[in-house]
Amino acid sequence: MHVPLVVFGGGPGGYAAAFLAADLGMDVALVDRDERLGGTCLLRGCIPSKALLHVGRVLAEARELEDWGVHFPKPAVQLDALRARKEKVISTLTGGLAALARRRNVRIIQGEARFTGSGALEVKTAAGSEHLTYDHCILASGSRPTRIPAFEIGSARVMDSTGALKLEDVPASLLVVGGGYIGLEMGTIYAELGSQVSVVELTDALLPGADRDLVKPLQQRLEKIFTAIQMQTKVVKLQDVGAGVSAEFAGPEGSFTKEFSRVLVAVGRRPNSDGLGLENTDVVVNSQGFVEVDDRQRTADPRILAIGDVCGEPMLAHRASHQGKVAVEVLHGEPAVFAPRCIPAVVFTDPEIAWAGLTEHEAAVAGRQVEISRYPWAASGRAHALGRTDGLTKLLVDPETEQVLGVGIVGSGAGELIAEGALAIEMGCTARDLMETIHPHPTLGETLAFSAENFYGLATEIYRPRAETAAR
Ligand code: FAD
Ligand code: NAD
Repeated sequence: MHVPLVVFGGGPGGYAAAFLAADLGMDVALVDRDERLGGTCLLRGCIPSKALLHVGRVLAEARELEDWGVHFPKPAVQLDALRARKEKVISTLTGGLAALARRRNVRIIQGEARFTGSGALEVKTAAGSEHLTYDHCILASGSRPTRIPAFEIGSARVMDSTGALKLEDVPASLLVVGGGYIGLEMGTIYAELGSQVSVVELTDALLPGADRDLVKPLQQRLEKIFTAIQMQTKVVKLQDVGAGVSAEFAGPEGSFTKEFSRVLVAVGRRPNSDGLGLENTDVVVNSQGFVEVDDRQRTADPRILAIGDVCGEPMLAHRASHQGKVAVEVLHGEPAVFAPRCIPAVVFTDPEIAWAGLTEHEAAVAGRQVEISRYPWAASGRAHALGRTDGLTKLLVDPETEQVLGVGIVGSGAGELIAEGALAIEMGCTARDLMETIHPHPTLGETLAFSAENFYGLATEIYRPRAETAAR
C-alpha cells in the first residue's frame, strides 16, 4: 500500500502531527504497536501520574486542614477503585483520540513497524505483515526507561515507571533510584498513599537540571514525607530476598545494605531509535541514540522527519506535539521552524516546580549577565489564604534591555502559573510589561507582576532601600 504521509508512533508528537496533517488535507496513516493511541504520555506517563498525584495532593490537603481546626478521619484508600478511576481517565482520553482519528480519516495501523528502506516500512500486524511505501514519514517513536543491567534481577518487586503506575499495591517501603522528575513524582504518590519512601540520587542534588532556590522548598517538604533522601549515593546491587529486595548502597558514609518491599528505578529515558531499521535509511543517529534533525525537523534522509523524544531533550510531551506541528507545516510547504525561545518544564510534585527560558545555572555557565528578582510567597495574601507560603517566583531579566529571559516558580500550582512566564518570554516582554499588566487579586498569578515590581524596587509588600534601586 502507498500512503503519501506515514506517522510512525501515536504519542503526543505523532497524533498531533497526524491530526494536523489531516486537517490540512493530507492523506495520512498512523502506525503504532499499541492498541490504543496516546503513547507514553497518555498510557503510561503524564496523564496517569498526574491523576494519582491529584489524589496524593488531596490527601495532603486534608491532613493539613488540621492546622485550620478541621479534622478528617484517617482516609481509607480502595486501591481497586483508585486504579479503575485512573484507567477511566486514560480510556476516556484514548477513546477520544480514536474518535478524532476516525472523524479525520486518519488510517490507524496497529503493529510493530520497521524501515526496510528510505521510503518503505514493514508493519507486523496481528494478521501478518503489511508493507507500506510513502512519500514522507514523520518518525515519532518516543523513548523508554533507561535500564541498568545490574538491576535486571528478574524480580517483580523491581519496577520502572510503567510498573509503578500500575499501583499493584502500596508497599510498606519503596526505594526510588533516581531523584529526577519520575522519582520525585512517583515517590510523592506512594508516600501520600502510605509507603515509606527512600530516594537515592547519584549526584549531589535532587532535580539536577533545576535551580537550587526552586528545589529547596520542595526538598524541605519531601524530607517530611519521605523516610530518607540520600545524595551522592549509588545502589551497587539489588537482590530479591523473597519478602523484599535487599539493596546495597555506596555513599559518602561508606557502604550499607537495606531491605525494601519494592524498588522503582527512574534514572532517565532513552530514545527508541534502535531496532527500527534506521540503518536501511539515510537517517543519522548520534552517540546518545537521538535522531539528528535540523530546525525544520528534517533528518539526513529527505523522506523522513523526526519529532519528540526520539530526537532529543527535553523529553516533554508539549515539545513533541509542537515539533509534530512544525514537521507537518514544513511538509505542507510553510516556512515553519522549531525555534522556541523557551520550552516550559514542570515537575508536578508538591510544591510544584516550573521554569521557562534561561535558568540561573544556564546563565552562570554561559557567563551571561542577568538580574534576578525574587518574590517570596510569604508576601502574597493568596499564598497565606491557602496556607502555602512555601513558594517563590523569580524573574531573570536582562539588565540592559529589561527583557524577561527566564521565569522560575516553586509553589502550589506553579505548573499552571508558568504559562504566563512562557508567553512573556516568547513575546519578548520586559519586566515593565509584566508589572503594568493588571493581575487579578488575590491570586498566585500576581506574584509574577510583583516580582517584576520588585525588579524596579517597587513591590508594595516588599521594602527595598532606595539606594539599591536608585539607578533604575
Ligand atoms: P511517545 O509518547 O513515547 O510515543 C511513541 C509511540 O511510538 C508509542 O506509542 C510507541 O508504542 C510507538 N512506537 C515506538 N516504536 C514503535 C515501533 N517499532 N512500531 C510501532 N510503534 C512504535 N512529559 C510532560 O510534558 N509532562 C509530564 O507531566 C510528563 N510526565 C511523564 C511521566 C512519566 C511517568 C513518563 C514516563 C513520562 C512523562 N513525560 C511527561 C514525558 C512524555 O511522556 C514524553 O515526553 C512524550 O510522551 C513523548 O512523546 P512522543 O510522541 O515523542 O513519544
Ligand atoms: P531524569 O533525568 O529526570 O532523572 C533521573 C535522575 O536519576 C537524575 O537525577 C540522575 O542524576 C539520577 N541517576 C542516574 N543514574 C543513577 C543511578 N545509577 N543511581 C541513582 N541516581 C541516578 O529522568 P526520569 O526521572 O527517569 O524521567 C525521564 C524523563 O521523562 C525526564 O527527564 C522528563 O523528560 C520526562 N518526564 C517528565 C515529567 C514532567 O514533565 N513532569 C515527569 C516524568 C518524566
